[in-house]
Formats: sequence, structure tokens, C-alpha cells
Amino acid sequence: MHIKKTLLPPDNLKPLYADALKLPFGRTFTDYMFTMEHHRGRGWHDPEIRPYGPIPFDPAANVLHYGQEVFEGMKSYKTDTGVVLMFRPRENAKRFNLSLRRLSMPEVPEEHFLQALCELIRLEERWVPQAVGSSLYIRPAAVSTEAALGVKPAESYLFFIILSPSGPYFAEGFNPVGLWVSDSYTRAAVGGTGEAKTGGNYAGTLLASKIAKDRGFSQVLWLDALEHRYVEEVGAMNIFFVVDGKLVTPKLTGSILQGITRKSILQISSDLGIAAEERSITIDEVVEGIRSGKVTEAFGAGTAAVVSPVGKIGYRDEVHVISEKAGPWSRKLFDTLTGIQYGKLPDKYGWVYRVV
Ligand SMILES: *Cc1c(COP(=O)(O)O)cnc(C)c1O
Repeated sequence: MHIKKTLLPPDNLKPLYADALKLPFGRTFTDYMFTMEHHRGRGWHDPEIRPYGPIPFDPAANVLHYGQEVFEGMKSYKTDTGVVLMFRPRENAKRFNLSLRRLSMPEVPEEHFLQALCELIRLEERWVPQAVGSSLYIRPAAVSTEAALGVKPAESYLFFIILSPSGPYFAEGFNPVGLWVSDSYTRAAVGGTGEAKTGGNYAGTLLASKIAKDRGFSQVLWLDALEHRYVEEVGAMNIFFVVDGKLVTPKLTGSILQGITRKSILQISSDLGIAAEERSITIDEVVEGIRSGKVTEAFGAGTAAVVSPVGKIGYRDEVHVISEKAGPWSRKLFDTLTGIQYGKLPDKYGWVYRVV
């Protein structure tokens, strides 16, 4: 694919951030974005890298009414020697297509997805922060653009990629957070769209998140939609527990998002000397386990935080405290994964993808 490039005169480029360590998540955007259109009968066409800026939408555009939208979340990292890396980007390309299929949207060939990322990041190399823990967050997304109010898959789409340099997720230290179990609201049901990264899934969680925050917890621990018994995810991350010295994460049921961080943790666990199990785990087992001391750690796993330790879980008017500090496995998995991502540890699985 040939990507057209519309470049700005050097004087019109934005000034670079002053301190990458102080960049809040997702508020600063780089100079350029990638866009590509799709029309029925024509396929994907006009791939272009052009100045970052607003995109006009017809008020009748399908996405604004019926939400045909999917996205991805990835990062690129600059090593000490100035090399720019991505972590398992082909996995994101595959998942993007899984989401697109679920939303009845046209797939983007994996090679084109990767090429667009690489050409855009190469052009924007100066924006990739080098400071420890900071990275260039990458947001690929696709939306339906056809102006028509009938409920049906649209006949035109836009695929775009924007980039946002972001400081470390744990600016205040690797501290555990509190979770609130919602036993009335649910995130996703089997047969629904929980496995797809689509905006509607997130819109539906905001009310429960607000309730959790009002009660003094930072995230919601989601249970299954049918019985409200099985633990599924935390906020927009996958969840892990250490039970009897073993890592346990809910098995994929169709309503759980297939996290790449989750998959990577399962793959490295045996190397690190901990057995891992994918199985169903009930909220009762978690609460009982915290009480008896069988559950020694819990943490969320996702691209943004990598590993986010959990200190306590609020369930039905009781707060179950796991620990005030991050546990040893949370720490070890965080250090190992970020070590691989920043090119500091050997890449024995071939997960690291060199961009520049
Ligand atoms: C993106 C996401 C995850 C984590 O996926 P990663 O590939 O590890 O970033 C988990 N759960 C939900 C709901 C998500 O949106």
C-alpha cells in the first residue's frame, strides 16, 4: 500500500512536551494522524498521513446513532539507545479484525495495519518519550461514516490512528487500588460484544464506575451477567488472583476481552516459577480466600497499566483487605513485562517489534 503524506512546514510543528514524566494520559496529541476510507465496492482506499485535526461527520453518520465503532490500545517505547519498539502489534491487528467482524465492519489487512502504524510512528519519532515508564500511546480506531438513519451495517467507514505521548501510569508509585463489586450492573454478556473493543461497552460501564468512585473505590470488579457469581474483569482490564501460590485468571467465555497483557502473563508465568490456571472463579471463592489467607494477591492486567495491584475488594457492604502494598508476583510480572517492552530484558518469545 502506498501511503500519501501531506506534511507541515517545520515551523508549524507543535512544540514538544517539556517533561514526559508529567504528561497526563491521552491529552497531548502529535502533529500527524493516519486516515484511510472504505466504501462498499471499492474496499479500503486513500491511505494518508496528514496533519492531526478534526474530522467532519455528517450528523446522520451511522456511528453517531448506532455506534459501529471499534478501537485498539497499544504503546511504543524508546529504549536507552533510542530504538523505538512496539509490543506484539500483530496481536492488536488480529484483535482489531475480531472486533470489526463482530460489529459487521470491513476488516483491515494485518499488513496494512502494521504498515500504517510503522510509517506514522517513524514520522513522529521525536514524540516517543524516553523517560522511564512513559510511552507513546497509540489509538487505532474505525467508525462508520455513512449518512443514513436505517439500522444496518454502513456502506462507508473511516480507519484512523492517532498518537498520544503519555507519562508513567504509576506516577504516584506502584500502589494497590480498591475495587467495588457490582452485583447489579454488568459489563458484557455471553453472545454480546464484550469480546470486542467497541465504544458502547465502555459507555455502559460509566455509571457503575461513578458509583464505585462515590463509595471510595477506584474501579469496578465485574461479574458475569447471568448469575452475578463469576469474576470477569476489572474496569477495562483483565483480572488475576494468586490463589494458594498459583496464578488464576477467569477463562475466556466470550464476554471477556482477550487481553494481550493477559495472554503474555500466562505465557511467562512458568518461566518465572509460578503455575497459572485459566478457570472460572466465583466472587465467593475470592472473598473466602481473602478471609482465609488463600488469596494473597490480586491485580488487573492491560496495556495502559501493564499490572495494576489490587489492595481491597468491597462486596455487599463489606470490605475485604488483601494487602496495603503491591504483592511480590504483581511486582515481578510488572518488572518482567515492562523489562521486555523497553528492551531491557531478553526477548525470548519474539514479542518486541522494532519500528525505528
Ligand atoms: C483493552 C482491554 C483489556 C486489556 O487488553 P490488553 O490487550 O492487555 O491491553 C482488558 N479488558 C478490556 C475490557 C479492555 O478494553
